[in-house]
Amino acid sequence: MTVAENPTPTQVDSPEAQHYNRVRRWLGVADFAIGFAFLVGLLVTGWSGTLRDLAYRWGFQNYLLAVFLYLLFLLVISKALGIGLDYYGFRLERRYKLSNQRARSWIWDELKGFLVGLVLAVLVVELLYFTIRQWPQHWWLLAWALFMALFVVLAQLAPVLLFPIFYKFEPLDNEELRRRLVVLSQRAGTHVRGVYRWKLSEKSKKANAALTGLGATRRIILADTLLDNYAPEEIEAVLAHELGHHVHRHILKSILVQAAITLFGFWAANWTLHYAVDQHMFEALSDFANLPLMVLVSTLLSLVLMPALNAFSRFNERQADRYAFESIASVAPFISSMNKLAEQNLAERTPSKWVEWFFHSHPSISRRLKAAETWGKTQNAGPSV
Ligand SMILES: [Zn+2]
Repeated sequence: MTVAENPTPTQVDSPEAQHYNRVRRWLGVADFAIGFAFLVGLLVTGWSGTLRDLAYRWGFQNYLLAVFLYLLFLLVISKALGIGLDYYGFRLERRYKLSNQRARSWIWDELKGFLVGLVLAVLVVELLYFTIRQWPQHWWLLAWALFMALFVVLAQLAPVLLFPIFYKFEPLDNEELRRRLVVLSQRAGTHVRGVYRWKLSEKSKKANAALTGLGATRRIILADTLLDNYAPEEIEAVLAHELGHHVHRHILKSILVQAAITLFGFWAANWTLHYAVDQHMFEALSDFANLPLMVLVSTLLSLVLMPALNAFSRFNERQADRYAFESIASVAPFISSMNKLAEQNLAERTPSKWVEWFFHSHPSISRRLKAAETWGKTQNAGPSV
């Protein structure tokens, strides 16, 4: 099962890391299965129609209000079905000492997450059925355009509007790191508008970093759990990786890929809804009791495409890593930061091949380390300038 050819002691996963990651994976699978069964159940039993009728009654026979109530029913029920697993996930982080979050704070986060999800879902679903009612012929094209516009706006607003609901951010005040970033950015011929300290430590002991936002909100966020425990050279290596995402325009490319998939998804949803109406499952396209069917189509599509999307993401990550190798003086700090991250986050360094293929958006740590070592060797062997 091992992938590494010469597993050094640091590349062997502890039973702890293996167990933690296996349980987390199963939690994800169970969560997906419950959601899937819920959608199928709604359609097969006719409960979707019952909920729609109830929504109409409570919503004074008003279509917009009924759509909202129906969606609220669905989200409340699915949250109730999934809350046990969510809680188990929270306990798991605590059990492995990866989180110091208190139950109270976790419940508050769950509540906020539910409300944010509700607001976004209402926005999307109301728009969806509005386009279906207004343009029954080409609703899916229009809905796709609106959906993508919303997606881009949200990508732009997320760092300033959504993330702060859950975490605190403040501009990085470390002069040494700022200086290093400026040098890195100049070398890249670009500049990132900001680097922020992400107060992750209030909730987790894991470390993380990311490039987020679009245009004016484009920024690199670095967890305080990383900033406070890593050497400046190691943080610089992480910064260089994030800058690699920026230089290679990975956010834009991801949005384009998303746009293509979503277009196909809306076309498939339209086809499926027409088929369902032809089969007399629903009276009309605008009957919102067909929402579970639409969600089912998009869920299946995401499932089928997951390996391909993860492969695309891993490709981007390798590109960002390579960019980091090229822009830092030595790969040694990159290697040590990777080792630290793996340990701190209890990551699997050598997951099985199929686990990596299906689940992982990042190449395994062992592969990333190997790439860095290979790069380091070629640099040392090459002609010195
Ligand atoms: Zn990355």
